[in-house]
Amino acid sequence: MESLGVLFTNPMDSYLEEELGRRFKLFRLWDSPPEKRKEFLRANSGEIRAVVGNSVMGADADMIDALPALEIVATFSVGLDKIDLDKCREKGIRVTNTPDVLTEDVADLAIGLAICTMRQICQSDRFVRSGVWLKNGAYRLTTKFSDKKVGILGLGRIGLAIAKRAEAFNCTIGYHSRTEKPNTHYKYYPSLISLATNSDVLFVACALTHDTFHIVNREVIDALGPNGFLVNIGRGPLVDEPELVKALVEGRLGGAGLDVFENEPQVPEELFGLDNVVLLPHVGSGTVETRKEMADLVIWNLEAHVLKKPLLTPVV
Ligand code: NAP
Repeated sequence: MESLGVLFTNPMDSYLEEELGRRFKLFRLWDSPPEKRKEFLRANSGEIRAVVGNSVMGADADMIDALPALEIVATFSVGLDKIDLDKCREKGIRVTNTPDVLTEDVADLAIGLAICTMRQICQSDRFVRSGVWLKNGAYRLTTKFSDKKVGILGLGRIGLAIAKRAEAFNCTIGYHSRTEKPNTHYKYYPSLISLATNSDVLFVACALTHDTFHIVNREVIDALGPNGFLVNIGRGPLVDEPELVKALVEGRLGGAGLDVFENEPQVPEELFGLDNVVLLPHVGSGTVETRKEMADLVIWNLEAHVLKKPLLTPVV
């Protein structure tokens, strides 16, 4: 299989890198400085037949155009927002992702983030470590998660796993997506505003596309209101971040638990001083177990492609 030239877009996982290197001819894009990358792609374009990217860098139109021998893009993520899918379809380039294997981790983290934000677990920890408990006595009261009205934007694999977990906390569940799901008893809201109006906590778990960019806008945030909480484990650009920051600073939103941001790894500094936010560095699928399963899926998809067998998790 060494004949398959694989472009690895950025450092993402050492196991995946080693295993790809053992099976294929690996081209590490970051080996060349940013200003020389076009040249690097041109020099190796005859050999590169596959791209392995992730939520940081995938295969955009420029990259696809620069690689005329490209046959497959196998992303180390379930999200496809860094891949120009239309261009792949147009050029007959196959695309695979890593669905299902990361669902539990992301849903666990979403519930963790909600409880962490509402019960102020991180802030309470800082309260103890900084000695304020000793000096000032008891910590202030916080907000309960159990029994709350949970709204889910995007009842896909991860959204559904969040819903199942929230049910165990006796929460009532509503959701919004483009179509009503026939096999659930959760309440469907055809409009996101009405879902937010009827939710105490809104989980953002939908795909980032042209249609969902800034889908959580000022109106949605205001519909959640000063007692409402937003948890985003989807993608940063799903939320209008400047509006979110304003709402949090002005007290128009109760709090936010955020694993993803609009311009990662940049996080708005206004958030750093707020006690009603929990900020995570995009770690939804970041466990040893899950990252290994994701890596294996990427490798098996590439092997299947070389052997002309059916792809395991095809998107295109
Ligand atoms: P999925 O099963 O494809 O679910 C995506 C959901 O988005 C579907 O329910 C879909 O519902 C909804 N959706 C798409 N377009 C929409 C629109 N215009 N309006 C409303 N809803 C829309 O994907 P998944 O496996 O659950 O993953 C969901 C997302 O989570 C991924 O795309 C990724 O960005 C993110 N993610 C983040 C992390 C992390 O580390 N934080 C890890 C993994 C995944 P309809 O088709 O019915 O509209």
